[in-house]
Amino acid sequence: SVSEKNEASGSRILVFVRLRPMFKKEREAGLRCCVKIVNRKDVYLTEFPNDNDYLRLKRVRGRHFTFDASFSDSTSQQEVYSTTTVELVEAVFQGRNGSVFCYGATGAGKTYTMLGTVENPGVMVLAIKDLFTKIRQRSCDGNHAVHLSYLEVYNETVRDLLSPGRPLVLREDKQGIIAAGLTQYRAYSTDEVMALLQRGNQNRTTEPTRANETSSRSHAILQVVVEYRVKDASMNVVNRVGKLSLIDLAGSERALATDQRTLRSLEGANINRSLLALSSCINALVEGKKHIPYRNSKLTQLLKDSLGGACNTVMIANISPSNLSFGETQNTLHWADRAK
Ligand code: ADP
Ligand code: MG
Repeated sequence: SVSEKNEASGSRILVFVRLRPMFKKEREAGLRCCVKIVNRKDVYLTEFPNDNDYLRLKRVRGRHFTFDASFSDSTSQQEVYSTTTVELVEAVFQGRNGSVFCYGATGAGKTYTMLGTVENPGVMVLAIKDLFTKIRQRSCDGNHAVHLSYLEVYNETVRDLLSPGRPLVLREDKQGIIAAGLTQYRAYSTDEVMALLQRGNQNRTTEPTRANETSSRSHAILQVVVEYRVKDASMNVVNRVGKLSLIDLAGSERALATDQRTLRSLEGANINRSLLALSSCINALVEGKKHIPYRNSKLTQLLKDSLGGACNTVMIANISPSNLSFGETQNTLHWADRAK
């Protein structure tokens, strides 16, 4: 289980892979599937798909990966949630923080996994639903307060997705690093949450050239804070807080930094800064280093209290099946492999 692994080795990070289905359009365009998932763990990748390739690939180093679990293209949202996140929701009731990241190239299924659709809600919605179910099951129901915040890091600027406006300033106070003025939405039930998150998602920065599409350079962070009262060992009533952070990361594809002066490459550099900073933090945590370089980006500053230490960290690497995405898929799998 997540908690056992954390106790045994400091900050073990659980790493999962999710393959999205091939689109009809892709199949019609003659694209082939270049990924195969075997035994719900092993991922085989081939640059030139044909039926015999996968077996041959077993012997090719570097193109066979094993993760805590790998989800094939027919895996339901509920199964992804139950395998990756359910224990982190439970840990919140022990006053422990946790974070779940979706990492991968644009179009690989990060937003589908995190937010999902009305018919097939994703991890964010299922986690909140589960949280409310668990609160109802606990005897001291009235003692729980649930607050949501939903923000974006775009181009190293922090914005409130629930109440768009001026950029938010990060401040350090007694509780840690906070975004000053960020909306803390008091939630009472699951029903209101999907609409809220979808509206928030529409407030994410869009690409100037593609007005209706979320920018591949935007990181979205949902934080769910549960505050409740319990009796401690000497029967005093104490406040406890647990926080779950669910993060839909920016696209991991390499920015084409051909012209250093263009806005594009500036944005790309900043995205790389946040993703690189996250990678550095995760690598430092996995290697058990004392110094974790949280200060290097807005994303890692915001997640300082939710990564490492007694926190649970889950990484879901999203990949696309098409042979056109071979390079990105390989990069994503190598990145995820290093996070183990
Ligand atoms: P990303 O956020 O990584 O750029 P999206 O989540 O937007 O990618 O996914 C791209 C498209 O693929 C969307 O239309 C999404 O609905 C669809 N999609 C992604 N993953 C799945 C899945 N597991 N099942 C069905 N459709 C999916
Ligand atoms: Mg997306």
